[in-house]
Amino acid sequence: MLTTTYGFACPSRGEARVRLSGFRRLEELPGPHHPAVFRVDFACGCGGDHPGLVTHDQLDLAPLGFEDDSTYLNLMTSRNDSVAVELAGLAASRIKAGEWPWSFYCWPEERPRPVFPSAFRLLTDAAGDRVVVAVLCPACSRVSVNLVSRAHVDVPFHNDREVGVVEHVFAGDARATIEAFRAELYSSSFDARRLALG
Ligand SMILES: [Zn+2]
Ligand SMILES: [Zn+2]
Repeated sequence: MLTTTYGFACPSRGEARVRLSGFRRLEELPGPHHPAVFRVDFACGCGGDHPGLVTHDQLDLAPLGFEDDSTYLNLMTSRNDSVAVELAGLAASRIKAGEWPWSFYCWPEERPRPVFPSAFRLLTDAAGDRVVVAVLCPACSRVSVNLVSRAHVDVPFHNDREVGVVEHVFAGDARATIEAFRAELYSSSFDARRLALG
């Protein structure tokens, strides 16, 4: 099973290995970066939250084995490049077959959408080992908040059959979204939506 792990610096432990569900906030840095660079705040094993930087490719493609980045491979499996090639081939054939590594339910559009981790904006832990994730929809550019399993976020191609959806249209603006997100999270009910794509 593929599991997404990213390496960051921790001021007290030196190195932190973080799953996607340990991310707290993602923000694309302005400017002509190729590939784009994201600033991430993550929940560290030391108990603190720290900032880190990750490129668009590391964020979206490395978990699928598409990137021959040795740091990524060392952190993930300590295995060699040929494994990455195999994983990439496997991921490519599954995507061609209509499976998608990540998905979410877009509330403004009332439909499921395929997505990559770079569309995630905010994440937080919820009861029952579940995760609340705010996703900026690549199709309609609006933010939806879903309640999902941890594996739905951390394991590519693991998509929950049903997710919780907050029936609220959030502002696209990140700061306003964070405030609305927190308020909704602790007051709101999540409504179940089926997540079958295609
Ligand atoms: Zn730390
Ligand atoms: Zn949408």
